[in-house]
Amino acid sequence: MKIFKSIKWRLQLWYGLILVVVLAGFGLTAYQLERNRQFRQVDDELHRRIGVLGNALHHPPPRRQDENEQPFDRPPPGQFPDAGPPLQRNRPLPEFNLPSWDAHFFDTNDPHGYYYVVFGTEGGGEIARSANYPNHEITSYSSDFFASVNRFSQFPTPATKPPRMFNFDNYRETADVLPSGETIWVGCSVLPELKELHRTALNLTAIGGLILLIGLAGGWWFVGRALQPISEISSTAVKISAGDLSQRINVAEAESELGQLAYVLNSTFARLEAAFAQQQQFTSDAAHELRTPVSVMLTQAQAALNRERTAPEYRETVEACQRAAQRMRRLIESLLALARLDAGQEALKRLRFDFSKTISDCAELVKPIAEERGVKIFTTLEPVEITGDSERLAQVVTNLLTNAVYYNQPGGEVRVRLESQGGMAIFTVSDTGAGIPAEDLSRVFERFYRADKSRSTGGNGLGLAISKAVVGAHGGTIEVSSAENVGTVFTVRLPAV
Ligand code: ATP
Ligand code: MG
Repeated sequence: MKIFKSIKWRLQLWYGLILVVVLAGFGLTAYQLERNRQFRQVDDELHRRIGVLGNALHHPPPRRQDENEQPFDRPPPGQFPDAGPPLQRNRPLPEFNLPSWDAHFFDTNDPHGYYYVVFGTEGGGEIARSANYPNHEITSYSSDFFASVNRFSQFPTPATKPPRMFNFDNYRETADVLPSGETIWVGCSVLPELKELHRTALNLTAIGGLILLIGLAGGWWFVGRALQPISEISSTAVKISAGDLSQRINVAEAESELGQLAYVLNSTFARLEAAFAQQQQFTSDAAHELRTPVSVMLTQAQAALNRERTAPEYRETVEACQRAAQRMRRLIESLLALARLDAGQEALKRLRFDFSKTISDCAELVKPIAEERGVKIFTTLEPVEITGDSERLAQVVTNLLTNAVYYNQPGGEVRVRLESQGGMAIFTVSDTGAGIPAEDLSRVFERFYRADKSRSTGGNGLGLAISKAVVGAHGGTIEVSSAENVGTVFTVRLPAV
């Protein structure tokens, strides 16, 4: 069944089961204790009456001369008189008269309706029986029955030995055999006690039921509250899987374990959303960048095809198409490099080489462009050995140098430095260009980001993004600091050998 698969229901069921067992245990114990207490009272009363009857049997009250005459001294309560020598088996039955002062013990108006039967010595027959004696089956007292009474009999009953009690329907009875041989049998109705116990049982059931209800309701609320983050998490996950990455889990109880899980999931969703947005941005930027050279090529081709052209005109068109294609190739190569670096597919070489040699080679390559723009390059290179992919790192150096040249001013300078510090190779490229506005500084490493579009040299805005990815793959860092109209400094730190 489905509900038994739900954690909430399972917890509730288990919780309810424990509650029922505990409440039933408490209820039964309480009921049993109350029952014992009530019956103990009844038993005490019954034994008191055996004493009274024993007294009456061996101290029959004198026959009164007249009604005003005072009865003789009543024996102190609870004290059973000496019963005298055991009676002979076939001696005549003693006379039995219940004294008037003891009559109230067997008052017929009493709701308990105490009654008695007195038998002579074994087999001696019945001496007396109270008028209210009920007609129940056990009235035919067999010899077995007497034997069972005898076995438990002690007169007076010692406190250590529990007296034998008999229950018939709504009656409770006990018997005792006097040392003189007579058996006194007393009983009473326990209907009031049974009614009282019935009431107690109802009360206990009602209280137990109420506690169970409150417990279950409290448990339901508590479990629901504790599991609330789970339903929040699953509903948010459903919305996210449907494509809405902006959804977040509502973390109500940040301190709880599930609250912490929700918090972690939220930050994961946020990263996912950012990565997804970045990916989307990247794709649309890439498409946008590719569109420009493609448009150039199409326009040039269309113009050339419109009418007959001279050979130099065709040549110009082809050259324009070539430039556009080269730009496209650069862009595609950059995109490919980034994609591989992202996917960790770029197999970087791990070779030991002198980084200063790579830098001076790159500087030589960039020098003609620098000279073209009237920019001077100064290098101060300390030989530092590092481990990595020299070709990829050369790409980084070239990009930083070309940036420093392109974004410089005519007659400007570029200073290139490499030194070893605390086990790191520190490579800096500083220029005397216009600098990068403070608000753009944090974004220059983003893909397709170009700080000043008006000054743009037609680059793709991918050079620094690739540089950052390559340096990161070598376990290094790249930083930028810039002051407008003073210049920019890029610092690359790589672990030295
Ligand atoms: P390419 O992908 O061809 O390198 P790009 O040079 O425009 O294109 P990046 O090298 O990533 O791209 O540079 C990003 C932007 O940062 C540049 O467009 C430029 O605005 C700014 N920038 C980079 N280096 C400097 C510098 N030394 N001085 C001033 N601005 C710079
Ligand atoms: Mg660049």
